[in-house]
Amino acid sequence: MTVYVDNAATTKLSDKALDSMLPLFKDIYGNPSSLHTVGQTAKEYLEEARETVANCIGALPREIYFTSGGSEADNQAIRTAAFIGAKKGKKHIVSSKFEHHAVLHTLNALEKEGYTVTLVDVNSDGVIKADDVKNAITDETCLVTIMTANNEIGTIQPIAEIGEICREKGVFFHTDAVQAVGHIHVNVKDMNVDMLSASAHKFHGPKGVGFLYVKSGIPVKNLIEGGAQERGKRAGTENMPAIIGMATALKDAVDNLDENAKKVSAMRDRLMQGLKDIDRSFINGNLEKRLPGTVNMCFEGIEGESLLLLLDMKGICASSGSACTSGSLDPSHVLLSIGVPVEVAHGSLRLSISEYNTMEEMEHIIKSVPEVVTYLRSISPVWERIIKEEN
Ligand SMILES: *Cc1c(COP(=O)(O)O)cnc(C)c1O
Repeated sequence: MTVYVDNAATTKLSDKALDSMLPLFKDIYGNPSSLHTVGQTAKEYLEEARETVANCIGALPREIYFTSGGSEADNQAIRTAAFIGAKKGKKHIVSSKFEHHAVLHTLNALEKEGYTVTLVDVNSDGVIKADDVKNAITDETCLVTIMTANNEIGTIQPIAEIGEICREKGVFFHTDAVQAVGHIHVNVKDMNVDMLSASAHKFHGPKGVGFLYVKSGIPVKNLIEGGAQERGKRAGTENMPAIIGMATALKDAVDNLDENAKKVSAMRDRLMQGLKDIDRSFINGNLEKRLPGTVNMCFEGIEGESLLLLLDMKGICASSGSACTSGSLDPSHVLLSIGVPVEVAHGSLRLSISEYNTMEEMEHIIKSVPEVVTYLRSISPVWERIIKEEN
């Protein structure tokens, strides 16, 4: 049995998305920039996909820019606001300590280019306070970028409230909504955002494609120079199969959103209930303001890496947090940002569920995790010390 519960890292491509992609590899091979019939047929598919994506988030088709994924969309959004800001002498950016590295590393790059960055603290429950964002904004601020839902602990942020503050202050507001789109209701108007990033492979679409929403009127800064694709803002012949697959997957996710969320959150609740009694363990992040499918736990006295390897031997594919920090021995910056002590942050486990999972799989996890935790603690000097200190 393979139990795949790492859907925050990536999801399985849906059959519907795959089926919609196949014709683009075969008969509809035209270049949408070509003026002849073959090209124009592809162009029709492209623009239909743009309309589908726009409708799914309450945007206009001309406000959607296709990218190679969430990372590119984040980079482009931040660079757009930074570029406009610099022209007005505004070179300060507000973000948070637990953003995805696509955001944090772009901000690091901008710091080297003379921008200043303020990263607001995250509350211990994994939710940012809108007031903290408000207090961080200065006359020099050109951008606020705060994620809609965190990829490691699944907590949902007060985006609409932060957006309203940004609007009052006349500051651009971008949100990395990669974990939210297709999983919770996302509407760019209700959320008061100027820019929003999404990625297809997080909602059962293909990898290597995503989109950036930019409110009309904001001049987008292009990262890739060349042809006039994406209204001159993103050069390169469009990845047609991927774009069509993304539109299909997104429409499917949005059409079935409530039903899927209900199914997924029931599995998540069963998991939390089944794992909560493990000695010296706790669930990270607010229990209400969270994505339907993400659970993040810490177990004292063990290493997350060993936990993952042993779970993998039992057929369970999970994660210690971000796919991006796996392989490095640094504890998660997300867990540290919410005040989890370094030693404890090493013992983290992220289980991220999708509608493809089953209750039976949850029972397998509920049986396996305590076994593995008990075994690892029996050979852990750290656990031995914890128990000694307790007595
Ligand atoms: C996965 C993810 C990204 C990166 O998206 P890619 O399409 O893999 O580049 C960015 N932000 C968040 C919150 C993510 O979960």
